[in-house]
Amino acid sequence: MGVKYEVLLRKWNDFFRTRGYTTRIADITDSYPEVQSLEVSYPEISIYDEELAMELLEQPLRTIPAGEQALLTFAPQDAIDHFKEIGVKLEIGLRIKELPPLLSRVEVRNLRLHHLNRFIAIKGLVKNVVQVKPRLYIGAFKCLRCGHETFEEQGRMEYREPSQCGSCGKTAGTTKFRLIPEDSTFIDTQRVEIQESPEELRGGEQPQRLTGYLEKEITGQIFPGNKVILNGTMMATPPRNQRAHPTTFNIYLEVNSVELEEKDFEDVEITEEEEAQIRQLSQDKELDEKMIHSIAPTIYGLEDEKEVLVLQLFGGVPKVAPDSTRIRGDLHVLLVGDPGTAKSQILLYQSRLSPRGVYASGQAATKAGLTAAAVPDEQGDGRWKLEAGALVLADKGMACIDEIDKMGSEDRSSMHEAMAQQTISVAKAGITASLQARASILAAANPKHGRFDQFKTMVEQIDLPVPLITRFDVIFPLQDKPDPEKDAALARHILKATRIAEIIAQQEHAGNVDEIAGYGDIQPPIDNEFMRKYVSYARKNVFPTLTDDALDRFEAFFVEMRSQYSAGDSVAITARQLESLVRIAEASARVRLANTVELSDAERAIRILKNYLKRVATSEDGTIDIDIVSTGIPRSRVAKQSKIYSIIQDAGPDGITWDDLVIAASDQDIDKIELEMLLNNIREEGNVYEPQRGVYRTTRGGI
Ligand code: ADP
Ligand code: MG
Repeated sequence: MGVKYEVLLRKWNDFFRTRGYTTRIADITDSYPEVQSLEVSYPEISIYDEELAMELLEQPLRTIPAGEQALLTFAPQDAIDHFKEIGVKLEIGLRIKELPPLLSRVEVRNLRLHHLNRFIAIKGLVKNVVQVKPRLYIGAFKCLRCGHETFEEQGRMEYREPSQCGSCGKTAGTTKFRLIPEDSTFIDTQRVEIQESPEELRGGEQPQRLTGYLEKEITGQIFPGNKVILNGTMMATPPRNQRAHPTTFNIYLEVNSVELEEKDFEDVEITEEEEAQIRQLSQDKELDEKMIHSIAPTIYGLEDEKEVLVLQLFGGVPKVAPDSTRIRGDLHVLLVGDPGTAKSQILLYQSRLSPRGVYASGQAATKAGLTAAAVPDEQGDGRWKLEAGALVLADKGMACIDEIDKMGSEDRSSMHEAMAQQTISVAKAGITASLQARASILAAANPKHGRFDQFKTMVEQIDLPVPLITRFDVIFPLQDKPDPEKDAALARHILKATRIAEIIAQQEHAGNVDEIAGYGDIQPPIDNEFMRKYVSYARKNVFPTLTDDALDRFEAFFVEMRSQYSAGDSVAITARQLESLVRIAEASARVRLANTVELSDAERAIRILKNYLKRVATSEDGTIDIDIVSTGIPRSRVAKQSKIYSIIQDAGPDGITWDDLVIAASDQDIDKIELEMLLNNIREEGNVYEPQRGVYRTTRGGI
């Protein structure tokens, strides 16, 4: 059974004395109970006494209490007397940090029986935290026979009454005890759940979770989305609410200490050799093509989209202006398209490719949804817990949100905050918290009525609040229009990829591995693993700045767009697009690991933005009108709608017949098909109705 308890006590004693912890312990007694524990780093123990350190890992349930007992012998006598006098039990906890990864770090999925009752370190993302609540620690029990109070230390999981009164000696069978809360001692406790971090999962694996119990001053310090190492003892407990004697137990971590990690891309390990390879690839003349073709190679075409998806992986530089306003570096991209245009496929691929990528669907039924939520704790003791959704879990990474138009109403409001400020606030049931959500967002949505309607603008057909839509840097409409030439190529590509998959299945069955013709076409030129490293390296090390050339080019572009491409009083672009341009150009420089944003990066950003505006924000008369994105309706249409409205209004309370309306509209150069569309819009807005078939009149409110 390892080292004797007395020996442990002596070892700890030596350790505290020799390492000069006595003054520290005296300080703690001065600030007790605000400060109630001593932190010690594991390496310090193992250098001093290897045997004690090993015992700590193997027998924490004896070794830590021995340490805590040894600690108390260093408490100054006057402090001990003082606490005795005021009836407070002096207890100083020993919290051990910086456990040796090799000996103690365990992945949640690898937890096994032999870890039980051992001191281990679990690294992960905080998924949810339950509200901190007091628990009875030392109960004061009044004997109903003689009135004497007996103190009984409580188990964490069960309630313990004294077996015997400390004064009259009556046993539990012959007297009754009543708990006196005001004389009892309570401590703070908290239950948290952590899950494996996305960057530690191989593409597509579901993260596994573990419950941790925290006590005393380490409660209330961590929040969903934090990346932590929980050091503690793995314990087993029978499941709750089960009458029969269960034989399968739940495991949890009795947390001794918490280490908060600064979240970054550091977890993706890059060797020196790989760094050299990364540098070499950055000089490759075909770098951009290789990158683009490494995005979902089985998906045919969509080169413009893939180009932006590459840039999104790298992202721009997050900035804090001198007046401390934050400008996000992350690029937000939205794919809106007909069903079956590979949106989901692309999102899944990107969530695996991106370091710290998370895939979630707006339809997903989880309570935390996409952002974060306060939900009742399922253990039913009236507590609430704060639960992280995809955006919080993807902090500093990428959140791929499929069917974003289907998200619930609570998500809609916090999604806006997430996209604008990159935080998510929760205020509910006494829980208030602001969680970090610095993720780039790749979202997909279907058009409102299933398919695109050519008479409506793109934005009108996305079932999302306009302020949310305008937060996307780039929006791609994906239309599934038959086109014989493209269809043939698409079909060929899909079928070839399918055939290769068939051949692989066949070869696996037969147990041989032959070269497969055309295999290279659906293989990414840069494999996923290396791409992830390349991206991590760039995001961590490369922070490009604008050159004068790039700056001048953007300025000229902005002025030109606003003066030439705008018709009437419509506006081609706003300052928001300028920020997007900078982000795109910075990302473009980062791809090459360049520290400066060159003219070529600026040109590329302009090309991408123009292409996007052309596809999404072109009004009927061919001019670019950013109102199409920011209000959903082009100004030219607004003008025509009000013309039609005036015609109907002029007809007075009797209304106007369809045939007369067609004639009046054609005088204004509006043909029948367009008229029908305009009239539908006006009616949808509730400004015109049809009192009898084929007759239209205005409602009272009017435009
Ligand atoms: P969406 O989410 O847009 O409705 P999916 O991602 O579910 O579409 O795609 C449907 C199927 O069609 C997938 O198997 C996808 O691989 C295939 N597909 C669609 N477009 C392409 C394309 N351009 N190249 C290859 N496969 C495609
Ligand atoms: Mg889909």
